[in-house]
Amino acid sequence: MTSPEGHAAHCIFDEIVAGRAPTHKIYEDKDTLAFLDLFPITRGHTLVIPKRHVDRLTELRENEYEDLFRTVVTVCRRVERLTKDYNVAINQGRLAGQLVFHLHFHIIPRYNTPGPFAISPRTRIREDEAQAVLADLGDVSE
Ligand code: AMP
Repeated sequence: MTSPEGHAAHCIFDEIVAGRAPTHKIYEDKDTLAFLDLFPITRGHTLVIPKRHVDRLTELRENEYEDLFRTVVTVCRRVERLTKDYNVAINQGRLAGQLVFHLHFHIIPRYNTPGPFAISPRTRIREDEAQAVLADLGDVSE
């Protein structure tokens, strides 16, 4: 089975939702999940997804908007413990830079580093870095 974009049905984010792929989870409820980006653009780069697989924003059902956006805001509050400056972004379609065809919001903290749209090399997050970021993001209830 392929998506309208022509991508194979196997989806790494579905694997994360199913608990078959490892991740650094920062928030989860019945319908949504947030976890650290494996190749962060900046420290604390987080992704928020609906658990139900959709490739695109326009495939969401109206009754899914609220839960998903609530999780985005919840995660933004936690990212604000790192910095008040961040981008919230969705890459939609291959030409817009979408690589994983499971809808996701990026929350990308910005520090006093090169401009938000400067391209910089990305390396896989180290386990100790991930644990330190998780500690700084704190608990959802704090
Ligand atoms: P996009 O280019 O908008 O599709 O972004 C996909 C994002 O998913 C990139 O920032 C990747 O670093 C990230 N990513 C890919 N695989 C994983 C994974 N297994 N766990 C966490 N993030 C991932």
